[in-house]
Amino acid sequence: MRVRDVMSSPVVCVPPDMPLKEVADLLVRHAISAVPVVDGGELVGIVSEADLVPLELAPDPRAHLIPPAHLPGHLPKVAGQAMTREVVALPEEADAAPSVGQLPPGVSAVMYRGRAAKQLVRRARLHPWTELDRCPHENLRDPERVHIDPEGNVHLCQGISLGNVFERSLREIVRAYDPEAHPIAGPLVSGGPAGLVRRYRVAHRRRYADACHLCDETRRALRRRFPEILRPNRMYGLP
Ligand code: SF4
Repeated sequence: MRVRDVMSSPVVCVPPDMPLKEVADLLVRHAISAVPVVDGGELVGIVSEADLVPLELAPDPRAHLIPPAHLPGHLPKVAGQAMTREVVALPEEADAAPSVGQLPPGVSAVMYRGRAAKQLVRRARLHPWTELDRCPHENLRDPERVHIDPEGNVHLCQGISLGNVFERSLREIVRAYDPEAHPIAGPLVSGGPAGLVRRYRVAHRRRYADACHLCDETRRALRRRFPEILRPNRMYGLP
């Protein structure tokens, strides 16, 4: 499959001075996950949902009598301030495999998880759920990194919380992590997202875009059972 078989055409572009609210509306209206930023006919960057979500999650300094010290002086307001400048462009003839389906580690351009997944999977090649038997992007057995969100949740992968740094130190949280015993990471380590489905007998479809797509949907189904781990709500698109 070539890039031209999966690409959107004509391309929806925005100018650098377009307000981010309008950019976000455009993404939703056209059911796309990113827009090129064009200035005077020249490609100068790209704004994707990945650029907008951190802004959405950032605390608003106006809500604090004393603004938190870690916040930047001002948040980006227009496309040119939020865009990613290093854009990788592919010719129409390029192989589209690195952009669809389940991909080997280090090759993926797309992970089908979070709110963007619903839009992206429409164009993806789907795979039997039983084949999605490993986590392709995170070393869950021996993580080399964690993510900490503004509320203090320590994420193994987005939406899988190991604890909260406002309740315990990061050192304690990391030391207490036992991958095999962890209710979510354990099944993922031994059998990938398909293993998570099997462990808790979660209802599922027959085919998914990739491992993250199955993992994300399975975790959503398990949220009520593991509210202290599968959090915060925002990671699952909930208020
Ligand atoms: S969403 Fe699941 S399968 Fe994808 S990287 Fe995270 S833990 Fe691994």
